[in-house]
Amino acid sequence: MNLNLTEEQDLLRTTFAELFASESSSDRVRAAEPLGYDPALWKTLVETEVVGMRVPEAQGGTGASLHDAMLVAEEAGRHLASAPVIEAIVASHLISGIASPAAQDALPGILSGSSLVSFALFPGGESQLVPAGAVADAVVGLVGDELVWVEKGRDVKPAENLGSSPLARWSLASDGVREVLASGDEAVRAWSAAREEWKLLMAAAIGGLARRALEIAAEYASERIQFDRPIGAFQGLAHPLAHSVAAVEGGQLLAKRAVWAIARGRSDAAELVSMAFAWAAESATLAVARSLHTFGGYGLAMEYDIQLYYRRAKAWALAAGDPREELQRVAERHWEPESDVALPDAGEVTLEFGLGERAEAFRLSARQFFEENLTSELRAAARYDWDGHHPGFHRQLAAAGLAFASWPEQYGGQGRDPYEMTALGQEFHRAGWSTHPIGTTRIIGETLLHFASDALKQEVITRVCAGEAVISMGYSEPGSGSDVAAAQTRAVREGDEWVINGQKMFTSGANKAQYVFLLTRTDPEAKKHRGLTMFLVPLDSPGIEIQAIHTVGDERTNATYYSDVRAPDSWRVGEVNGGWAVLAHALELEHGGGGLGAFYDEHLEVVEQAAVWARKALRDGRPAFEDPRVRERLAYALMRAEVAQSLGLRSLWSGVEGVANQGEGPMTKLFGAESFIADSADLLDLAAPDSLLDAIESDAAGSGAIELAYRLSAGTSVYAGTSEIMRSIIAQVALGMPRSRS
Ligand SMILES: Cc1cc2nc3c(=O)[nH]c(=O)nc-3n(C[C@H](O)[C@H](O)[C@H](O)COP(=O)(O)OP(=O)(O)OC[C@H]3O[C@@H](n4cnc5c(N)ncnc54)[C@H](O)[C@@H]3O)c2cc1C
Repeated sequence: MNLNLTEEQDLLRTTFAELFASESSSDRVRAAEPLGYDPALWKTLVETEVVGMRVPEAQGGTGASLHDAMLVAEEAGRHLASAPVIEAIVASHLISGIASPAAQDALPGILSGSSLVSFALFPGGESQLVPAGAVADAVVGLVGDELVWVEKGRDVKPAENLGSSPLARWSLASDGVREVLASGDEAVRAWSAAREEWKLLMAAAIGGLARRALEIAAEYASERIQFDRPIGAFQGLAHPLAHSVAAVEGGQLLAKRAVWAIARGRSDAAELVSMAFAWAAESATLAVARSLHTFGGYGLAMEYDIQLYYRRAKAWALAAGDPREELQRVAERHWEPESDVALPDAGEVTLEFGLGERAEAFRLSARQFFEENLTSELRAAARYDWDGHHPGFHRQLAAAGLAFASWPEQYGGQGRDPYEMTALGQEFHRAGWSTHPIGTTRIIGETLLHFASDALKQEVITRVCAGEAVISMGYSEPGSGSDVAAAQTRAVREGDEWVINGQKMFTSGANKAQYVFLLTRTDPEAKKHRGLTMFLVPLDSPGIEIQAIHTVGDERTNATYYSDVRAPDSWRVGEVNGGWAVLAHALELEHGGGGLGAFYDEHLEVVEQAAVWARKALRDGRPAFEDPRVRERLAYALMRAEVAQSLGLRSLWSGVEGVANQGEGPMTKLFGAESFIADSADLLDLAAPDSLLDAIESDAAGSGAIELAYRLSAGTSVYAGTSEIMRSIIAQVALGMPRSRS
């Protein structure tokens, strides 16, 4: 994977960030209203050669990639640039790709800035609102199967509008001097590809706009005092902003994935473009609304800048019509991929969302192993939770190097990287084999590798690698869950031993595991976080009792009781009273750091199962799938699964690269859980009443997967840190807001 910008891209981004910061200040944006056009800014932009950035060098442009253009668009959005950057880039790129003399003759004037050309977003000759149409000298668009160039031949009147954008009505059939630049398939494909390019650039622009609006709101919330506190310390304000940051950043990543997919010629490229546009429009709407609300009454005052963002978030994207319509394209492109969608060329793209060759090779070996060794008896016994732990098959997996392969060779691992481990996890899911025992054990094992003594590592990690042991987590207690550091389970030192007494709740897998990674209080006098110590305790120790807790999601977990359990000091992990540092490391992994923690596979599965139902189920005698409302809801759920996946991939990559924590893990966990819950519930509605049936009923919608997802998803916003805790962390680290959880 590679989500880094190249040095040139970093320079490009910084250059335009600085340019817009000085030439598109709030005063300048306001001064350009109501037309929404700043001629001085436009002149400066033309001098930077931004108009021809997507035009090949041989034709006088700078031959930049689609990703480069998105970086410029994002900065234009952050600073609400009153200039038709996107339309001009798209129009010049489109015209440069047309071989006709009329097109080639027009190009020099466009690049020099003597002719400002915009792009008509709707096909046909009827009158339409054209973005930048109020300031354009000419417009390119599609009429029938002709790509036409229409010059301003009459007094085109700006149409006053919500976003103070330079919109104006043009009729490509009748206005001004008209030239046909291309016709037939060439014309239709070129125009269609240009429209997809416009969508991606617009997604980048409104993503930048929304991210900046959230920052402005967070700054205000950190300063404005009410009830003797900064209002940002109130979760009612901080949490919606945090949720929006995850949604907006997920959208920005989705747009990047779309560019990468185009560059690699992937079959999912077209659907990703549509999802990126639809999601950017939706997430920006909510982000600016929440940002405006943060200002209370002042948010409504025209003197405050937030209203500038509020209006443009809608107005810019809606130039292309109702963004929800894009979901019909998502459905078509994903479930009827035979339609051949014209896409823009992406140029040279260094972004890489693939896991890499080594991971793909490892994936194939894991797939082969499951195909050869997962017998029908094992498949029948498979469960998705800890109860799916099968010691015999687990040993087989370990022997084949498919369990704890990331750990060092000295303990029996293979030193595989996180990308390979991610591919492995996906194969477990594909085979229908539970990841819970290995996933939990991996988090603890990786913590032990950091903090345990050499002797403990040698004994335990070696045993685990051999497939002889798995480890459960004992943090939560009856009186402390989210506030995990308030644990009361006591460990008292007696010579070389510790005596442990207390109770833990929700110790998942304690009935299957050989060890519990136990949080204890060793100094009740010290401050909450300073009196904790971690131990690795064998679960067959005398004094441990395990009682089952059955959940609505059919997941078994446990209450565990510790009565005078004696633990030698050698089982201690980390310093005495230094347990918080150890636990924090494990919690960060559990919160999605390093790519663990998303629910993408489960989310995607429920969407695909609902699509299977929709193709079979009849509504008014026709397959439900033919109903646009059904397609829209399926596409919406698919889109959110892909946003979650994009966040998860970034979290994975950030962990590998050691990128400073900006809340990537918690964003993955929060967005993954909340969208999985919401979409499972919506798909249950969609397929009702057949969706109510349990998997054992042959006519259950989606073979019972929707009903199960509804129950199972409920836990995802609770375990591994609740959504409230995730939102508080995100507000603090990604938006710099005050602490809001204690
Ligand atoms: C299926 C399942 C498996 C689990 N497995 C394990 C395991 O293996 N090991 C383990 O140790 N634990 C496990 N847990 C426990 C899990 O980590 C806790 O349930 C979780 O941390 C929440 O704690 P709680 O249940 O005590 O709820 P509480 O902390 O009491 O929270 C109740 C509600 O209050 C909210 N809340 C709490 N504090 C705040 C705050 N500061 N601001 C805003 N809202 C707040 C929470 O978000 C929640 O909605 C599991 C839980 C489940 C459901």
